[in-house]
Amino acid sequence: MSTGECARRTGAIRILPERWEAVYVYWMENIRDWNISRQLWWGHRIPVWYCDDCDPPQNIIVSRDDVVRCPHCDGPVRQDEDVLDTWFSSWLWPLSTLGWPNEQARDLKAFYPTDVLVTAPEILFFWVARMIMAGYAFLERAPYHTVYLHGTARDTQHRRMSKSLGNGVDPMDVVSLYGADAFRWTLIAGLGIGADVILDPADLEKSFSPGRNFATKLWNIGRFLLSNLGDAPVRPLVDIDRRRFALPDLWVLERFDGAVAECDGALGPLQPTKAADDADGRHWRADERYAGLRLNEYAESARRFVWNELADWYLESVKGRLGADAEPNDREVARAVLLHVFDGALRLLHPVVPFITEALWQKLPGRKPGEFLIRADWPRLGAAPDGGRGKEFELVRDAVLAVRQIRGDYNVAPGKTLDVIILSPSDRRVYDDNASTIGRLARARVTVGSGAAPESAAHAVLRGGSEVVVPLAGLIDVDKECQRLRGELEALEKQIVSREQRLANPKYVERAPEHVVRSDRATLDEMISKRGQLSEKVRTLCGA
Ligand SMILES: [Zn+2]
Repeated sequence: MSTGECARRTGAIRILPERWEAVYVYWMENIRDWNISRQLWWGHRIPVWYCDDCDPPQNIIVSRDDVVRCPHCDGPVRQDEDVLDTWFSSWLWPLSTLGWPNEQARDLKAFYPTDVLVTAPEILFFWVARMIMAGYAFLERAPYHTVYLHGTARDTQHRRMSKSLGNGVDPMDVVSLYGADAFRWTLIAGLGIGADVILDPADLEKSFSPGRNFATKLWNIGRFLLSNLGDAPVRPLVDIDRRRFALPDLWVLERFDGAVAECDGALGPLQPTKAADDADGRHWRADERYAGLRLNEYAESARRFVWNELADWYLESVKGRLGADAEPNDREVARAVLLHVFDGALRLLHPVVPFITEALWQKLPGRKPGEFLIRADWPRLGAAPDGGRGKEFELVRDAVLAVRQIRGDYNVAPGKTLDVIILSPSDRRVYDDNASTIGRLARARVTVGSGAAPESAAHAVLRGGSEVVVPLAGLIDVDKECQRLRGELEALEKQIVSREQRLANPKYVERAPEHVVRSDRATLDEMISKRGQLSEKVRTLCGA
């Protein structure tokens, strides 16, 4: 194939990862004759018959239908013993599976060209390139728009898994021990484009437990969410007046839009969009050609939404609005939003973890018999109203996180209700409106105010200059805590002095290996920064 011809055709087909495209083009431009007959036991027999009584060229008969007698002398014939090269048969795969050589076949008209061919790099030339040749030779069009070459599963020594090395992982073992979803999750979420997947055949737990844990978490989120949502019919989100959304609703709808956009971006365009005046009809635009099929990023975006945003924050903040005693109009809004984003999250995750998402989707209120997630539409952007007001919920999250941090820092029992004062010069309205949400999420009584903070209190500064203050008197033994903190500070001070002395000693600095000295300096910096935090803590809690 000529360089120009090859370039035109690679405009219709993209190969990912990008580096394989050059390999492909090199092969196509240095193509050799192909001997298509093989002496094997298995394969398509070559459709050539010989008559031993006729003279050349009449002794050779080529036919689509089986030949029984010589068409020239009516004598006996024998078929060639050879079979076609394996790749000569399989290069027809995209065509023959769709009904070719009947060019009017319904499947061929509907599905040719297909979208994505997923395969391994080692058969790029043997199979992929030949399917492309066959596509152009017989239908003048590429058989697919995208060739995605995935990584290889390797062991921890980066060796390819093989029967002879005995370092393989049996997928059936993994499915029975961890579930098919966990297996799929591990491979897809771990598959960076162009990178290999490393699995430890001797430690399946290490390789597959994160996938199982995610599947379990998703199941638990679903059960908890459904028990809060209840069985009663839920109004579709589009029927809800957008002015009725509360701040957490706006936030989770914006985050859901964000997750859909991230997933779409990671998956990239499915088909080329630039019109071309050849039989292919469309070519890849330069900016879309290498975009997408970052499957691990797509899986992570969907996971983060359902776990870190929907479950950790929205579900926790909306619970109080779902009970039978909640205000009915607000309850209707909360249920509509919750169902919409969970349904959407299941759609995003379904290609990666199909079994668990389908089982949960079947339990959603309003499901009709015969509806399946596998046939449901991919989520679209635009669930959130314009304006981006949901971002204000980040202030709520920050305040809750600050209170939780203080609770941990001062060893306050998790069950104990805290009194929290939020001092905010700039965002007072947001904190006022959401004081009860913050209180519920942080297990606290929240007062929003201004003015001076009480003594013996822990402080945290939030964005925008707001401050979270937690009075600790009565919650912890302040004297004892001060004693403990001062002891800690004193010990740290001694360590800092000794390390400073060591680093001030020229003999040590000259003789010790450079990386040891560098790591000493880094440790010292960390200690100094920790000393700053500790003395600040002592100052606010103990007043000196
Ligand atoms: Zn003959």
